[in-house]
Amino acid sequence: MTGLFIEFRDPLFGVIVFFVLIFIVAMFSYWWGRFKLKADDKTLERFASQFHKLPSEKELKSLIYEGGLSEKSWLLLAHTYEKEGDFEKAIEIYQALIEFQKDAQARHETMLLLGQTYFKAGFLERSKEIFLQILKVQPRTPQALKQLLLVYEYLQEYSHALEVLEPLKELGIDAGKDELYLKAIALIRNEKIEAKQKATILIEEHKKHHQLSYLIYEYLFRHDAAQAWKSLEFSECERLSDILWQLSEEKLDLDIIASDSFLSELFTAKGFVDLAKSSCVFELDVLIKLRHANEPCATLRFEYLCQECKQVFPFAFHRCPNCHNTDTIMSETLLTKDFIEKNNSFQ
Ligand SMILES: [Zn+2]
Repeated sequence: MTGLFIEFRDPLFGVIVFFVLIFIVAMFSYWWGRFKLKADDKTLERFASQFHKLPSEKELKSLIYEGGLSEKSWLLLAHTYEKEGDFEKAIEIYQALIEFQKDAQARHETMLLLGQTYFKAGFLERSKEIFLQILKVQPRTPQALKQLLLVYEYLQEYSHALEVLEPLKELGIDAGKDELYLKAIALIRNEKIEAKQKATILIEEHKKHHQLSYLIYEYLFRHDAAQAWKSLEFSECERLSDILWQLSEEKLDLDIIASDSFLSELFTAKGFVDLAKSSCVFELDVLIKLRHANEPCATLRFEYLCQECKQVFPFAFHRCPNCHNTDTIMSETLLTKDFIEKNNSFQ
């Protein structure tokens, strides 16, 4: 029996004790490390949550009232939330600030910001109320007038939007383009006027001002293609290339197409006619060559450039979503694979 145990004087006993101690220390330091990591994570989470969680309305008001942060800092914080798309938090800050701001001009500026944030967040009625409140006190505020015009337009209250143009003109702001645009939109959306009559009025307006080509021809080609072709100015064709490209074959006027080189190239590239051998527009040239080689495996897609702010959008617009200017759209052609043709080729 004694052979089974190791005496404490035995050197082997010391070695075993040594390794047991190392094992205990290693285990302890491992578990301590894990415990510390968890504790640190919790502290970090708690710390980060302070930045995600806005104080309640009451807390926010008392924080602003205490004046721990300057007004500028609050405005900066609200602007940051707004940029991140967190409109609710930005609005809460602006509202609390307005309540405590004593300086009339500063209050006026915060109200403008609040109105703009309501507009961006899609609360059009609230945005309208804020801008009307501002204008009640300071009627000569161009930013508020411009924003109110946009709000009325989005609410489709065109007569009110047109009324806003008067004070803008009195302030010396050129609102001629907005006036033409609002009148054209109001006419297009007016259900009491027949499409034929609308087309005639729009063509007359276009002849007079040479503006809003995209908006007018989009409507004309959809509702009265014959009139659209007759009144089409060839210099506008490139800008309208996506509208023309999407026309169905029965809406084409072959005589007019044959009389213009760009139209001949565009519809040869589409495959509706065979009137061009090449094009100086790269995308059309490639498509024409592919058609002639009997390999129609590509097509056109479009993106839309605002000629004013140079932003590009994947969708067409009549008022730029970024700079809010009207009649600045330019359609741009891009080559893409024609999946329909490709799928057909597998059949
Ligand atoms: Zn723009």
